[in-house]
Amino acid sequence: MTATESTDAADESGLLPGDWEMVIGLEVHAELATNSKMFSPARNSFGAEPNTNVHPVCLGLPGTLPVVNARAVELSIRIGLALNCTIQRCIWARKNYFYPDMPKDYQISQYEEALNVDGWLELPSGSTVRIERAHMEEDTGKSTHVGTSGRIHDAGYSLVDYNRAGVPLVEIVSHPDLRGPEQAKEYVEELRSILVAVGASDGKMEEGSLRVDANVSVRPKGADELRTRCEIKNVNSLRSIGRAIEYEARRHVELYEAGERPVQETRHWDEEAGRTRAGRSKEEAEDYRYFPDPDLVPIDPSPEWVDEIRAALPALPRERRQSLVERGGTAQAAAIAVQRDLDRLALAAIEAGADAERVLTHVANNLAVEGAEALDPEHFADLVKAEIEGSLTATQAKQVLAEMVETGRGPAAIAAAHGFEAMDTSELATILEGIIAEHGEEWQRFVDGDDKARGKLQSFFTGQVMKATRGQADGKAVAELLRDRLATS
Ligand code: MN
Repeated sequence: MTATESTDAADESGLLPGDWEMVIGLEVHAELATNSKMFSPARNSFGAEPNTNVHPVCLGLPGTLPVVNARAVELSIRIGLALNCTIQRCIWARKNYFYPDMPKDYQISQYEEALNVDGWLELPSGSTVRIERAHMEEDTGKSTHVGTSGRIHDAGYSLVDYNRAGVPLVEIVSHPDLRGPEQAKEYVEELRSILVAVGASDGKMEEGSLRVDANVSVRPKGADELRTRCEIKNVNSLRSIGRAIEYEARRHVELYEAGERPVQETRHWDEEAGRTRAGRSKEEAEDYRYFPDPDLVPIDPSPEWVDEIRAALPALPRERRQSLVERGGTAQAAAIAVQRDLDRLALAAIEAGADAERVLTHVANNLAVEGAEALDPEHFADLVKAEIEGSLTATQAKQVLAEMVETGRGPAAIAAAHGFEAMDTSELATILEGIIAEHGEEWQRFVDGDDKARGKLQSFFTGQVMKATRGQADGKAVAELLRDRLATS
């Protein structure tokens, strides 16, 4: 998502025909960044050889008993606190259904009493999205259906990998407060930033650490009814989330306008065809035969423990953007810096005396590179100061900065190695005099000319100085020299 989308409320009212509006609620599954699984000592790591991160508990072998991972509970509470939820006593429930990648034939989840309830999240553009609950559960394994569509019904055979079975998850369920695809994407981006900021998840959508299901319905603008919704499953990129929601909402409007109505069902997003397709008809909660898991005791976090976790929470993205804005950054520049996780670097450089605007310009334009976060803030500040003083031109500063990230060296050493020495003004003045002598006719026209002619000749003389100095002169210094020289002509 671009910063513009994340800092200005997007106008999405034109996306649907007529007087319809979208009603969107998101369910986001986040894998927790623990070392081991939710109920077993098997490793929780992505990308291992299939079926190597396993243990009798996550394989559902008879006679095994789950043991709760305390770290997973702590990370779940961090999420609840960051989302302004009430943290409460909760119980584990069995959600019963059959799927080959779930060896127990039930998933341990939370149903009646979830750990985190009744929270909210404020989007960078200002809207508030209510959080219904953020409950703990375990992930399922992963099936690969080998066939043309990748779907089970036309697969030649299927493979199953239990490495993911039992990985700790938090499922964050929003109220249907979102009104368009851009806002939904903004919500996911902000939620992702929060999860990463509190260390609860790595937030990598491409590795499945963050998976989004979208509940979509439409209604006449201004109505407060909730109409039949469809749930679009596991859309795996921000871009697809936006496209899938827009497609689905249009489909509903078309149905209503044709005098029909959508049926409640699960649908799958087909990225290539750019459309959703009907999956299974939606189960109601009672189909899962939820009941309290007899193998696990309730979790009742003590107020002291919750306070301790709250006190240790790092600054959240919203506060981090605010600190940059207070030091002179624009809302948009601050959003980019926080999104890239470079806001601490930017703040430290500003604290070290660098110009805030220039620091944030570099963060936005020149630091979207690996290793940028390791930049020494003092070095970064020195570079920006040199640039502001005019001893490095903007082009030189960009080049020096790139090498600072690559090599970890300071700006002075790199500038010296390139011969980017500060040109002192008297040296520049001498060069300019030589150019004036050589181009007397142009100079006379510059002195006599109107504003338009002068602008062109200004560029001409600046160009000549740059050529004579092989680009090392500072543009601002040249402009000042020309102005002074003109005043005395
Ligand atoms: Mn779930």
